[in-house]
Amino acid sequence: MNLSKKILSWYDNNKRTLPWRISQNFRKKQYYRLLSEFMLQQTQVKTVIPYFNNFVKKIPSLKALSKSKEKKVLKLWEGLGYYSRAKNLHKTSRILINKHKGIIPENFAELKALPGIGDYTANVLLALIYNQPRVAIDGNVKRVLTRIVNPNSQDQDPINLFKTKRNGDLAEALMEFGSMICKPKEPKCNECKIKEACEYYNSEPKIKLKRKIKIQSKSYDIFCYLKRNKKQIALTKNNDLSFLKKFNLPKIKEASKKNKNWKFLCNYKNSISNKKLNINLYYKFSTRIPVQYNWYSLKKNNEFIPSFTKKIFKKVSYLYL
Ligand code: SF4
Repeated sequence: MNLSKKILSWYDNNKRTLPWRISQNFRKKQYYRLLSEFMLQQTQVKTVIPYFNNFVKKIPSLKALSKSKEKKVLKLWEGLGYYSRAKNLHKTSRILINKHKGIIPENFAELKALPGIGDYTANVLLALIYNQPRVAIDGNVKRVLTRIVNPNSQDQDPINLFKTKRNGDLAEALMEFGSMICKPKEPKCNECKIKEACEYYNSEPKIKLKRKIKIQSKSYDIFCYLKRNKKQIALTKNNDLSFLKKFNLPKIKEASKKNKNWKFLCNYKNSISNKKLNINLYYKFSTRIPVQYNWYSLKKNNEFIPSFTKKIFKKVSYLYL
């Protein structure tokens, strides 16, 4: 039995039932795959599932997505983070409906030209939707491949080890195998169906493949202008936090000790993906605010607000109790 057959047989018996895997007609299948791949960029499967289910309940097709307002799409994405994904998905749906008759292109270059679709997403969509022989290498797959084949060996291309007619299933099987069996720490080698072929398992001492994920930690000062008699905060889109660009936020600066004119409220940590933010929150009651700022109700919650901003709202709301 070759490696593909072994991995696929493991996958057939162990795969998780995920909402985007449930078989559908072609149009629904491509919509589900497109949406789930956008949601899964930078986010774990278990986090994505409830968001995906809610999203397809409210926006059930690519056409419906193309006709939806961006505000609605962002609201459904609220809490999932990386909001540029939602904006790109929305733009992509419009291009697909208007220029591609609502069909995801079968061509790598055309697919990659769509907003939010890079090499990885293009490969995985072509494998999953069109069964093209493409290996989508995410962190899980990279780890599996480098363990099976000694990364120091020049004589084997890991991708050539896997040949099958079930290309879409193989793409998913490798990801699933990496997350459930060939885990980053303590891989379950004893349960592994391909251990005889694995360099990592058969080498003594085992090849150490340590992946260090750098978590940047940075300190920021956030300055909130507040209206004394109304629960209002002044926000501006002119901020330099790249991951929240174009969203309304209070003034944010890298931490400094020269904040004498502001009252200190609290310090807290906020983790966003691979960034750890150490935040000092300051406030000032004022009726006048600088240009580029607008007053915003702290109670307003019927429109999209990133969770980063919601946390600030919650903390300053205590000043009105
Ligand atoms: S034997 Fe262990 S290291 Fe090798 S592929 Fe299987 S789980 Fe991964």
